[in-house]
Amino acid sequence: MNIPLKMHAMLLESPDKALHLAEMSVPHPGPGQVLLKVLSCGVCHTDLHILNGELTRPKLPLVLGHQIVGTVVELGAGATRFPIGERLGVPWLGATDGTCRFCRSGQENLCDHPLFTGYDLDGGFAEYTLADERFCFRLPSGYRAVEVAPLLCAGLIGYRTYRMAGEQVEALGIYGFGAAGHILAQVAKHQGKRVYAFTRPGDFAAQEFALQCGAVWAGDSTQSPPELLDAALIFAPVGPLVVEALKTTRKGGTVVCGGIHMSDIPSFPYHLLWEERVIRSVANLTRRDGEEFLELAPQVPVRTDVKTFSQEHAGQALEQLRTGQFVGAAVVAVEPEA
Ligand SMILES: [Zn+2]
Ligand SMILES: [Zn+2]
Repeated sequence: MNIPLKMHAMLLESPDKALHLAEMSVPHPGPGQVLLKVLSCGVCHTDLHILNGELTRPKLPLVLGHQIVGTVVELGAGATRFPIGERLGVPWLGATDGTCRFCRSGQENLCDHPLFTGYDLDGGFAEYTLADERFCFRLPSGYRAVEVAPLLCAGLIGYRTYRMAGEQVEALGIYGFGAAGHILAQVAKHQGKRVYAFTRPGDFAAQEFALQCGAVWAGDSTQSPPELLDAALIFAPVGPLVVEALKTTRKGGTVVCGGIHMSDIPSFPYHLLWEERVIRSVANLTRRDGEEFLELAPQVPVRTDVKTFSQEHAGQALEQLRTGQFVGAAVVAVEPEA
């Protein structure tokens, strides 16, 4: 493979500045790393939170993007897990220390010294990217690169969120029906659950889309569903939804917040939490979450609805995500045929 010296990347110089197309050197893989030629990269709310300065310590300048699909083109010293030419996925969890109490107890998602893709490490809005081979995933065949990209964060952190709702759930609410919602609705339906989808008030396109994805009911986030929920997943970064979800959740039910950032949660009367209702968050992913989910997704089979953008339009993709201008997931197709 002929690897060029220079590449194009969409670069973030500092928060609140627009991404711009820059020429950068193609990086060389260090020990245990692979160099990937990027095919596609999903766009996530977390990218917006970095852009907005709500996540406060990004590496700068930074290449955003942490749902990367790429082909291995060069191996660093000691990298033996994947052959040249294999198509891999790179998720948000880019590396851990492997030694802290969380890593040692199966909770590497909470590692004390993690490195996150597209935050601490350059991500996938570029023609090439590096990844630690230990944190990459084999991808199911049968998906085009743009279709499989949203599984790598919306899908697998969404899946962790879904699992935290508990095994006993039959009536499941999903607040914020975007990339994660449309994937998890399919998984939940496949597992025999009744999905209730809640969208921004008046977003009839998203409500119609939710019904197509298998929801039995779709409505505004301020509405009451026809039955109380056993659990609710919140994928929109909107704190007041926690209170709305508690109001519609039965005794002993769980409200799981799936995002990395949320606006403030307003105060609410204790009786909404009373009777053993639980509010919890989900942080990041473990490799086990990813492996489980990527095995499950083709069995459902999960289909992703993607709106693709060219690399130089990554900024527009983020803007359209912010304003909710499409249903499903946004993906940057770095390789036009991806
Ligand atoms: Zn993400
Ligand atoms: Zn650790």
